[in-house]
Amino acid sequence: MASQPDAADDRQNDVLQRHRETADAVVPERTSLYIGGEFTDAAGGETFATTDPTTNRALASVARGRKADVNRAVDAAWEAFETEWSGYSAGDRQRVLTEIADVIKTNADELARLETLDNGKPITEATVDVHSAAAQFRYFAGIVRENGGETMAEGSRYGQVISEPYGVVGQVILWNFPLLMASWKLAPALAAGNCTVLKPAEQTPLSALRLAELIDEIVPDGVVNVVTGFGEEAGDPLTRHPDIRKVAFTGSTAVGKQVMKNAAETVTDVTLELGGKSPVVVFPDVDVPNAVQLITAAIFYNTGECCEAGSRLFVHEDVADDVLNGLVDAIDAMEIGDPLREETDLGPKVSAEQVDRTLEYLEAAQDAGGRFLAGGDRPDDDVLSEGCYVEPTLIDGLDHDHDAVQDEIFGPVLEVFRWDEYEAMMELANDVDYGLAGGVITDDITQANRAARDIEAGYIWINSYHDLAPGLPFGGYKQSGIGRELSADTLDHYRQTKTINLSL
Ligand code: NAD
Repeated sequence: MASQPDAADDRQNDVLQRHRETADAVVPERTSLYIGGEFTDAAGGETFATTDPTTNRALASVARGRKADVNRAVDAAWEAFETEWSGYSAGDRQRVLTEIADVIKTNADELARLETLDNGKPITEATVDVHSAAAQFRYFAGIVRENGGETMAEGSRYGQVISEPYGVVGQVILWNFPLLMASWKLAPALAAGNCTVLKPAEQTPLSALRLAELIDEIVPDGVVNVVTGFGEEAGDPLTRHPDIRKVAFTGSTAVGKQVMKNAAETVTDVTLELGGKSPVVVFPDVDVPNAVQLITAAIFYNTGECCEAGSRLFVHEDVADDVLNGLVDAIDAMEIGDPLREETDLGPKVSAEQVDRTLEYLEAAQDAGGRFLAGGDRPDDDVLSEGCYVEPTLIDGLDHDHDAVQDEIFGPVLEVFRWDEYEAMMELANDVDYGLAGGVITDDITQANRAARDIEAGYIWINSYHDLAPGLPFGGYKQSGIGRELSADTLDHYRQTKTINLSL
């Protein structure tokens, strides 16, 4: 329902004031490039605006890095590696990582508010991100010494197998969990002994820049460099730079393929964390309210802007009506609004482009005969229409081969499929190019294990969702990526193997 004009003005003024005051308090002063331990303008002197998606107003003007800036950052990183960082012992790096975790924790409130302003995610979720980012650094601090190597003594041959850092790595991330994704990249790279050049997403550069400020006194100059800017202008030269020895990318599958081609030019190792279109399979024995809660979180957490979002629901016929009615009620009860308020469940999407992209899929789904059980548009509300909001949406009746089902929408959109025959359901569940994650909801442990093994994906939750723990590898099958994050495997992605074969 559209609100009364005066009341809407008051509500809008309230939001604007809250965002202005928060921006004054937390937007960092230094929003230029961070290279060699200095904040510095882009060589071309250009900047771009980063926007608050709740108000659609500019938050800050940020340096627009290009190839010349990437080159400077890579040089600074190599200098830091050669003159200082390669001499740091595992214990030294452990101390650095622990101090980074501490400084994130100390500044958690400020970082969370900054993230909410730049990304639009609810403050409660931003707070979880910030603490998870600190936990990343603490986890990798804990395993930094896991670099034992191997030996083989045989006759007169004595072989040693050791791991060495690459030197300088290039890391490109996206906007959905800006600080958390930065920590997923920085922590293992530093733990393994590398220096890095990080390019944050153009939509959300602020938390990485603030992190650079916070760690300036902790990390030697040039070990961490942050080049803000656009994909083609800064990400592309970084991922094809001849002196980058390892490329790590998180983003869309389409760009991931380009990044892989870029890295191929110099035969550089890549890890890719890409898109998903994950199934959630509901068996007939479920407790309906509990299933509804899990499904709601699986799709609507972070406004559906999660690579692992459970965006295709496969619900057994016996419970389908009850589950869908429960989902409609849960959607009705969701608080959509200002993400700076603690009670908000669903904030805006990150940008107007992302709203348009989502709405195009919804229109196509409608044209194809999809039945919208909830949502389907922007909210009909004068205040919310100022921001990048999309209603939480539930669609039934689409063909599984429709683009809205096959493609990652990356928004608050859940597509429903009913099943009664397991094999046929599982065939559909796996009938996408992606294979990042999946969910299984049942108390029947045999069914749960069977489904978990049958879903072609790198991470399966049984009776939970989104719960990621450092130590448990996260990454995709099929076109969802190459490599694993969050675990000891990740350290190995940032090291290369050397064999020393000594003849005695
Ligand atoms: P995107 O691929 O467009 O952008 C991601 C990053 O790549 C940005 O920093 C961008 O500037 C940069 N970039 C763009 N073009 C580039 C180029 N030619 N060369 C180098 N860098 C370039 O990502 P998006 O579509 O905005 O983000 C959504 C995607 O990210 C979704 O597919 C989502 O599933 C995925 N994602 C995956 C994970 C994971 O861990 N698997 C985590 C979060 C998000």
